[in-house]
Amino acid sequence: MSEYFFPDQDAKFVLQQVVGFSDLCNQLDQNDLNSGLTDAILEEAAKLGHEVLAPLNQIGDRQGAQLGASGVQETAGFSEAYQQFMESGWPSLAGDPEYGGQGLPRALSTAVMEIWQSANMAFSLCPLLTQGAVEAVTEHASDELKAIYLEKMISGEWTATMNLTEPDAGSDLAAIKAKAIPQGDHYRITGQKIFITWGDHQMTDNIVHLVLARLPDAPEGVKGISLFVVPKFLVNSDGSLGELNDAKAVSLEHKLGIHGSPTCVMSYGDQGGAVGYLVGEPHTGLACMFTMMNDARQGVGLQGLAISERAYQHALQYAKDRIQGTQRDGSRVAIIQHPDVRRMLMMMKSGSEAMRTLAYVAASEADRLKAAAPQNKAHHQARLDLYTPIVKGWITEFAQELTSLGVQIHGGMGFIEETGAAQFYRDARILPIYEGTTGIQGLDLVGRKGVSDKGAGMLALLDQIRDELVTLQLPDNMQAAYELMVQAEQDARGAVAWLLSHKEDASSIGVNLMMLFGYLCGGWLMLRSAAAAHALRADSTQDISFLDAKLVSARFYCEHFVPRVAAHWQTIKAGSEAILALDEAQF
Ligand SMILES: Cc1cc2nc3c(=O)[nH]c(=O)nc-3n(C[C@H](O)[C@H](O)[C@H](O)COP(=O)(O)OP(=O)(O)OC[C@H]3O[C@@H](n4cnc5c(N)ncnc54)[C@H](O)[C@@H]3O)c2cc1C
Repeated sequence: MSEYFFPDQDAKFVLQQVVGFSDLCNQLDQNDLNSGLTDAILEEAAKLGHEVLAPLNQIGDRQGAQLGASGVQETAGFSEAYQQFMESGWPSLAGDPEYGGQGLPRALSTAVMEIWQSANMAFSLCPLLTQGAVEAVTEHASDELKAIYLEKMISGEWTATMNLTEPDAGSDLAAIKAKAIPQGDHYRITGQKIFITWGDHQMTDNIVHLVLARLPDAPEGVKGISLFVVPKFLVNSDGSLGELNDAKAVSLEHKLGIHGSPTCVMSYGDQGGAVGYLVGEPHTGLACMFTMMNDARQGVGLQGLAISERAYQHALQYAKDRIQGTQRDGSRVAIIQHPDVRRMLMMMKSGSEAMRTLAYVAASEADRLKAAAPQNKAHHQARLDLYTPIVKGWITEFAQELTSLGVQIHGGMGFIEETGAAQFYRDARILPIYEGTTGIQGLDLVGRKGVSDKGAGMLALLDQIRDELVTLQLPDNMQAAYELMVQAEQDARGAVAWLLSHKEDASSIGVNLMMLFGYLCGGWLMLRSAAAAHALRADSTQDISFLDAKLVSARFYCEHFVPRVAAHWQTIKAGSEAILALDEAQF
C-alpha cells in the first residue's frame, strides 16, 4: 500500500492564487492567518493524515466495523486515531468561537478536510457529518439546545449523525414515516432509519442523532417534517450523561466500499419512544436539515477530489515502478514512459487539480457570504447555492472516471485487492449516491438554481467567466486551450437559454447541465491558475518547475476535458424526446 502525501504545494497555490486567500483573510479580519499560520496548520494536519489516518485506511477496508451486544465496534485503531484527532483540536477548526470553535475560514478548513478524506475517507465521514450537524444546530436550534450540545459537538467530544433515509423514503423524503409524539418538554420518537453513517461506535461517550420525523398534526409531504436532536445517552441538566436513550443500531450493511464506516439500520422507540428535542419550528425540519445537507454535499464533493488525488498518487507510484515494454535502443522502461499511460496520469493529475480549484472556491463563497456587506449577501448566497450541486454532482461523477483510471494504470494488478487501487475505486462509488444522487443534484440545479430565478445565478457566473477570460495573460502555446474555453462559455450560455425556453424538459437535462457547468468551471479556474503561474514565473525565487507543470496541467485540462462542455451542450439540445420515447414495455 503506497503512502499518502498531502499535495501541499498545489493546495497552497489554489488557496492563494485561485481563491485569493490573503484578501479573504483581510475581509474576515483574520490577518493572523497570513503570517505563516496557514502553512503551519496545513503541515500539522498533513502529518496526522500521513502518519495516523492513512495507515488505517486499508485496515478499515479489510476489517470493517462489527455489531456486537454492546453496539457497533469500529475498526481496531480508529478509536485511538479519533482521540488524537480530537485532542489536537481538528474538529473545531471552523466552529463558532462562542462555542469553543476556532472560527477559521471555510476555505482553510476545506483544505484541511481534504487531507482527512484522502488519508482515510471511511474514518473521516464521521467528522464530516458532525460538522454538518454543527451547522444545522448552530443555525436552527434553541439557545438551550445549543448550550447543551454545541460545544461538545464542535470539540468532537461527541459525534453526530444525519437520519433521513427510511426503507420507503430515499430520494423522496416526503414519504418519511418516523413519528414524534410531544411529551412535556420533549418528544418521543419512533421509527426506523436505514443507511445511517456512523450511527453507532465506541469512539466517543455520546452520539447526537439529528432525526427527521412527523408530528401527530403534520401535513402530508415535505411540509410536515420536523427535525429532532436525539442523543444516544440522555444529558442531565449539569451536562453529565444520563441513561441510554431508546435508540440503537440493529444491524450493519455489507457494502461495496467504505467498510471502515459503519452504515447502520437504526431503530428508534423499541421501548416506547426515544427522547428527542425539536430543532427549529414544527414542520420546518427539512429546511433545517438542508443546512446540514448543503454542508455535507460540499463535503462529499470534496471527498471526490480527495479520493481522486489519493488514487492518482497510488497510480503514479506504480507507473514509475512497473517495468514493461522496451525503448528503441532495447532498454526496458517503466510504464510511465508510454504516451497512453502519460495520458491517463495527466487526466488524473489535471482532473484532480481542477476539482480542487472548484471545491476550494465554492467553500470560500461561505466565507465571502460571512464577510459581505448586507447589500452583497444575496449575491454570495446565490453563488454558494449554485456551486453546491455542481461540486457534489460533477466532482463525484468525475471521481468515478479518475479512480477507474487509477485501476487501469495498474493493469491486471489494479483488479487485485492487495495493490490498493481497487479500494479507492470501490470507496469512490458511494459518492454520487449518498447526500442526494446525481439525478437529484441535476434536478436541484435546473430547478431551484436555474428555472426558479430565470437563470440569473447561472448567467451571473457566465458573465464573470466571460469577463475574466478576456483579462487573462497566458503563454502563446495556450492559445488553442484558451479558445476552447471561450467557446465553452458560449455553449454554456446556449444551454442556459435552452433550459429557460424548454422548462418542460428541465428534469431530462439536469445531469447534462450539471456536468457541463462542472467541466466549464474546472476550465475557468484552471486558466486562472495558468495565468497566475505564468505571472509568477517572472520571479526567479519561485519554484519554476511547479509553475511549468501547472501551465501544462491547465493546458491539458482545456484540451482534454473542456471539449466535453460542447458534448453536453449537444446532448442538452437534443431534448427529452428520445429519452422518453419508449413505452415502459419496450425496455
Ligand atoms: C453507504 C451509505 C451511507 C449513507 N449514509 C446516510 C446517512 O448517514 N443518512 C441518511 O439519511 N442516509 C444515508 N444514506 C442514504 C442515501 O442518502 C440514499 O441511499 C440516497 O439518497 C438515495 O436514496 P435511495 O437509496 O432510496 O435510492 P432511490 O431514491 O430509490 O433512487 C434510486 C434511483 O432513482 C433515481 N431517482 C429517485 N428519485 C428520482 C427523481 N425524483 N428524479 C430523478 N431520479 C430519481 C435516483 O437518482 C437513483 O438513481 C446512505 C446510503 C449509503 C449507501
